[in-house]
Amino acid sequence: MNWLSDFARPKLKALLGDRNTPDNLWVKCPNCGEMIFHRDIEAAHHVCPSCSHHMRISPEQRLAMIFDEGKYEVLELPEVPVDPLKFKDEKKYTDRLKEARNKSQHRDAMVASVGKLKGLDVVALVQNFGFMGGSLGMAAGEGFIKAAETALERKVPFIAFTAAGGARMQEGILSLMQMPRTTILVEMLKEAGLPYVVVLTDPTTGGVTASYAMLGDVHIAEPGALIGFAGPRVIKQTIREDLPEGFQRAEYLLDHGMVDMVVNRHDLRDTLARIISLLMNVELAVQDSKPGAPITELGEEKEDDKITVIEEAEPKQADRAEEEASDAEQNSEEEEIKLAASVMNSDDAATVTEPQSGDAPEIQLKAEPEVKSDASKPKIKPLPTIEQRGELAGQTP
Ligand SMILES: [Zn+2]
Repeated sequence: MNWLSDFARPKLKALLGDRNTPDNLWVKCPNCGEMIFHRDIEAAHHVCPSCSHHMRISPEQRLAMIFDEGKYEVLELPEVPVDPLKFKDEKKYTDRLKEARNKSQHRDAMVASVGKLKGLDVVALVQNFGFMGGSLGMAAGEGFIKAAETALERKVPFIAFTAAGGARMQEGILSLMQMPRTTILVEMLKEAGLPYVVVLTDPTTGGVTASYAMLGDVHIAEPGALIGFAGPRVIKQTIREDLPEGFQRAEYLLDHGMVDMVVNRHDLRDTLARIISLLMNVELAVQDSKPGAPITELGEEKEDDKITVIEEAEPKQADRAEEEASDAEQNSEEEEIKLAASVMNSDDAATVTEPQSGDAPEIQLKAEPEVKSDASKPKIKPLPTIEQRGELAGQTP
């Protein structure tokens, strides 16, 4: 009996289990189609070894990659009213939220954390594209504000990793209000002389690009990341012209002065540490520490769970992204269209889209590293409290 239960059964299980392994153990690169063993792709920070395509990664993977020894503390983010507009399209917004929460194990699209980057204390915020397209709603806005406030309290630099399909249309005007609210916090960081570094990841679009994602002291973009306001298809339909090659991709934006640098994920940690030490005028305490495995206070069992979730999600993404125009773009475009149609009237939507491209050089000027001592800008008073929220709500309609 021992031989049967201890030897034969595990062997049989292993044989049967093999049927499921290709899905979980191999990740297909959405760009070149190469099948990569999951350990290899994890070790390569989800950058394809053959074509250098930067795949999307979870907030946990992102933070573990940045912080010393992969250790960080997750900040608790404020609760916000759920579905104040009682929004419903094909599904109820509350159902969509529940689904996204179950799938991602997160409350909303933002994960804020504090930790050490080569010995320097920093606050890092990651926008999770996996959670309803990273859309900027009230919870995401509050998440950004909480993270920025923590940076202000502790007098440490603030790094934001952006990824979004735009504003969360299910929250209508309340989601659009997060644009001025987050902008105010960026202004407060600048007044306090604290660096605010933005890492634009694939894709950063819509209201996020139109607010905090383009207001950093330094803008870093990951290679190949889609960055823009309206998606390429919407622009093409509007101007009725073919768009140049690589339009709205990180490298194109670098050539046109919209971002300061395009940095490979493997060099991101070093680059961030160098920029922050320069801006803070401090020496790096740790020169050669390396990011470790994702070890957080979440515990190891949870880590395992998460890894399996990610592995299941990746191949699906890869399958879906057969064409260059990925779901993300479509989603963000659809969201933009829907948002434009439902929240603003069509005239307003047109005026929002047009100045965006015209304003590009102006944004670039604002994004120069020396903005810290900028006193010429109109000072915006901080208004992060509930009273202010009330005032804003009263004015907008
Ligand atoms: Zn590839």
